[in-house]
Amino acid sequence: MAAVSGIHIDIRDKTYRTASHVHQAIAGLELHIGRNQFVCMVGPSGCGKTTLLNIIAGLDQQFQGRIGIDGAGQRLHIGYVFQNPRLLPWHTVRRNIELAFPGPPPTALIDELLDVMQLRTAQHHYPERLSLGMQRRVAIIRAFAVNPDLLLLDEPFVSLDAPTARQIRALLYALWRQRPHTVLFVTHDLREAIALADRLIFLSSEPMRVLADIPVDIPRDRRDSSSEIETFRQHLLSDYGIINSHL
Ligand code: ADP
Ligand code: MG
Repeated sequence: MAAVSGIHIDIRDKTYRTASHVHQAIAGLELHIGRNQFVCMVGPSGCGKTTLLNIIAGLDQQFQGRIGIDGAGQRLHIGYVFQNPRLLPWHTVRRNIELAFPGPPPTALIDELLDVMQLRTAQHHYPERLSLGMQRRVAIIRAFAVNPDLLLLDEPFVSLDAPTARQIRALLYALWRQRPHTVLFVTHDLREAIALADRLIFLSSEPMRVLADIPVDIPRDRRDSSSEIETFRQHLLSDYGIINSHL
């Protein structure tokens, strides 16, 4: 694994220009993300979260500013779970995963990940046969397949039922504990964010701005339903009235 000690985000300007419209999505955004930190970002729809992840991933280079990733001189592995699972419909679950590996796919590791995500029996199915929850689990495995130093997740649990989301969240967390790496997780769900994060970043829109940047100092192995999470949530809602409008 490359020695990634942090990510420096400095986006002076990101403006979308279409024939009829100019929209400044991000202006003057500066953040430092520490090594192996689990950061949850919360913000209203349209505030630029996907735009930000695309810039960090290097998929969007049409912006002014700089993304500095320490250790990037070595080969940095970035896993990205997109807002939509984006599986290749003409390949099976297993093949979709195998294709994520740059070299020969490691059979034992894929088996292990399929087991962890409870997908072994579906490995030869095509995506059209899978529920959305299963497709999202395949997408998460693909992102893990590269053994990421940096994992980007864009609202990966939206439109899943609560028990499925809880189950995948626990699996994701277990994988992070097993193999620490830096995580940037975009979510709308404050309980989910508190359950997972070392740090919460609340964002506003037009253009994107950091409203609050808050450490979560609840001991690990948190349970979703624990009173500590609820107390922390209530504290956030009362002390940071500004975030109320998101939730
Ligand atoms: P979020 O992920 O927080 O919902 P996005 O990053 O998708 O927000 O979008 C931020 C803003 O930029 C929105 O106003 C959206 O309409 C606009 N936007 C996103 N992609 C494009 C694009 N390709 N062309 C023009 N505007 C875009
Ligand atoms: Mg988005």
